[in-house]
Amino acid sequence: MKRLVILGGGESGVGTALLGKQKGYEVFVSDKGEISKKYKKVLLHHKIDFEEKNHTESKILNADVVMKSPGIPDKVPLVAQLKELSIPVISEMEFGAQYTEATIVGITGSNGKTTTTLLTHHILKRAALNVGVAGNIGDSFAKQVVENDYKNYVLEISSFQLDGVDKFNSHIAILTNITPDHLDRYDYDFNKYIESKFRITKNQKPTDYLIYDADDEAINNWMQKNKTDAKLVPFSVEKELKFGAFLKDNNIIININKDKLIMPLSALSIKGKHNAKNAMAATMAAQLLKVRKESIKESLSNFEGAEHRLENVAKVRGVEYVNDSKATNVNATFYALECMDKATVWIVGGVDKGNDYNDLLPLVREKVKAIICLGLDNEKIKRTFGNVVDMIIETAGAEEAVKVSHKLAEKGDVVLLSPACASFDLFENYEDRGRQFKKAVKSL
Ligand code: ADP
Repeated sequence: MKRLVILGGGESGVGTALLGKQKGYEVFVSDKGEISKKYKKVLLHHKIDFEEKNHTESKILNADVVMKSPGIPDKVPLVAQLKELSIPVISEMEFGAQYTEATIVGITGSNGKTTTTLLTHHILKRAALNVGVAGNIGDSFAKQVVENDYKNYVLEISSFQLDGVDKFNSHIAILTNITPDHLDRYDYDFNKYIESKFRITKNQKPTDYLIYDADDEAINNWMQKNKTDAKLVPFSVEKELKFGAFLKDNNIIININKDKLIMPLSALSIKGKHNAKNAMAATMAAQLLKVRKESIKESLSNFEGAEHRLENVAKVRGVEYVNDSKATNVNATFYALECMDKATVWIVGGVDKGNDYNDLLPLVREKVKAIICLGLDNEKIKRTFGNVVDMIIETAGAEEAVKVSHKLAEKGDVVLLSPACASFDLFENYEDRGRQFKKAVKSL
């Protein structure tokens, strides 16, 4: 019996354990932290051996294959040891994909993954395809392979997941964009991060497709120097393309079939140029899967969007409150500010992952009337924007930030939480930050 060891007893770990058990592996789950009650119950129920608050090396180093949860960096000594012993260390995507014949739409990029994943799933589901969605969203991929075995999957795939793939392939890959993020996991080398993202196409065949942002500098540079076997399907909001998707006179034009799909931007339920790009990518994936254009258009107009991504929270005394807590890097915040068409009170800050705020200066100068800092260390923000915005106020929590914003904002303004930073200094995670913000707005 082959031995499958799983490092990390979270959603992807427990899902992989279930699939491994079903496929006849001897499974052992090891988590350095505590495993939540919910997952322990599942492991106990399926009689899967596990440990928590410890990694017992003797029970790990005898594995035939190890599935590592994406949160565990490659550099931890245990993983380095496994690699030295030539024990394959793979990701959940790699393991799960071995056991399904489904068509896979794999979505990666620095920003827009979740939105594009949910939108693609929405379009396919409404067109009555048998389709599952996974990867940071809902149930793990591996668990769905055990329980549902859909004919199609839309998978959101992080660079950490991609680092653990060997044979995994997406029949349709979407690369939304590449801007610096998570560089702490890539030796602060942007090129290493870019290489990681492009692993999405490394196993693609000439019958597969790579949908990508043709406006993206990092993507274009890579494409000039490297080759992929997939058919290239570009999208752009800057130029007209002979083949692919582009914008013209405020319409999205999709030109990959004889029959063009044309849709006014105003008919999209999600707003902003970045969402136009996400919509183009999702639409082309759906067209490649033969979904009719009328059905796609309808789905684009009734998609509800994802929580914490430019989410309209409420209008209080003429002031709109927008929750973009998921904007954990500068590029995401750039698009959020670009969307603002009213004077903006901007709530920003948190844990900076090596941010360069200079790209935001023109937008901030044009749109932001006050900055509310919501982080422990706000020095860089104050330094960068001190000459551009008159009012910069530091706050210690979401409630205070909302109260101060409420005082400063006038009728017709918008209060935007788009932090450009991670949330771990003051919050559990970005969801917690977004929820606390919404709660504070609702109690105004
Ligand atoms: P991800 O899953 O890659 O983090 P999300 O869809 O959750 O992406 O969006 C994260 C943040 O990035 C949000 O603040 C959102 O407004 C912004 N965003 C969404 N799509 C794009 C895009 N195509 N380009 C840049 N920013 C985007």
